[in-house]
Amino acid sequence: MNHCSIENCTKPIKAKDLCAMHHQRLLRHGSPHTVRPRRVKEESECSWVNCQKKSITKGYCSKHYYIQRVSRRSQVNVT
Ligand SMILES: [Zn+2]
Ligand SMILES: [Zn+2]
Repeated sequence: MNHCSIENCTKPIKAKDLCAMHHQRLLRHGSPHTVRPRRVKEESECSWVNCQKKSITKGYCSKHYYIQRVSRRSQVNVT
């Protein structure tokens, strides 16, 4: 018996008798059974000017996240 103590979960134990996923939930929500926090997080929009797409990474939509990442790294002016 060396797997997660949660019912129906057969993943290997990471810590405290829980697998990585359930241990993460325990840390985040205080319970490994909680899938979502009580407050549903508001969907945020991309913080790029005039972009109304949903942000998926660090406040940007996938396209603008990529652009700002690349432009930051190589100092290219995106206009
Ligand atoms: Zn588990
Ligand atoms: Zn965007």
